[in-house]
Amino acid sequence: MESALEAELRRRIIAWVMERAEANGGFLHRDELLGFHIDGEKLPVIDYSRGIRNPARFGSTLSIVSTPHGPYDDAESDDGLLHYAYREGDPWSGDNRKLRNALDTGMPLILFRKEVKNIYTPVAPVYVVGDEPENRTFLVALDESFTFVPDPAHLTVPQKEYALRLAKQRLHQPIFRTRVLLAYDTRCAVCELKHGSLLDAAHILPDPHERGVPAVTNGLALCKIHHAAYDQNFLGITPGYRVEIAHDLLEEVDGPMLKHGLQEMHGREIRLPARRAERPDPAALAERFASFGERAAARG
Ligand SMILES: [Zn+2]
Repeated sequence: MESALEAELRRRIIAWVMERAEANGGFLHRDELLGFHIDGEKLPVIDYSRGIRNPARFGSTLSIVSTPHGPYDDAESDDGLLHYAYREGDPWSGDNRKLRNALDTGMPLILFRKEVKNIYTPVAPVYVVGDEPENRTFLVALDESFTFVPDPAHLTVPQKEYALRLAKQRLHQPIFRTRVLLAYDTRCAVCELKHGSLLDAAHILPDPHERGVPAVTNGLALCKIHHAAYDQNFLGITPGYRVEIAHDLLEEVDGPMLKHGLQEMHGREIRLPARRAERPDPAALAERFASFGERAAARG
């Protein structure tokens, strides 16, 4: 296929993947990816059985799948790039040739992170920016700027800092969101709204906190309004899993959002993940709830 045509097709596939994922809450189901059609033709975005998708018509790899503990666990190293192992077999042909071709042409591809069976969190576009035959790995960067870096295998300190920040934003945060939303069955823990595109994964202890880790037990699936209310200390969640609305807000008189969306949530029990191991850590909730009490008191 002519490369301009392939580039255009990729752009459309990536746009579809990201749009679809956003509608679901940041992830796609295996069936959606396998059933994808474009211009009336079926074009699975992932491979049926392998962790790399190389459509016959494409000169370069379309997508790669990384699983946290799979054979291609990549990978993520402390330089903020993904170190993606060569596929088995001849390093110069087949899958490896198409990955190398992505490096030579600068064609964007999709990285899917498979957190749980049949659920894929996309990160796209990503770029193959380096080839290290001595380690049998390709270097994959999470944005285009690294295609201009002269030596991606040896990043400078500022480049590395940027790459790590990028990994947090474009890889770790989306993975966290997927895991939290799945744990909560894609519903807001406070109001039970079930539209993935309107749901976030909120941190209980915030990111800069030493225990503010992106683990499901430090997360809550919250709709946009309840997430913002939680972060602004208008809404608190007790270690006993109960919602409290700040006093000043309870006393206010206003329209239906305040009344139904916030005041009526006061005293409700949050909806918990079905799996005990995924429930929010009461110690983290307690610490956060203490600061809610202080801040709400200071305001009112
Ligand atoms: Zn909500």
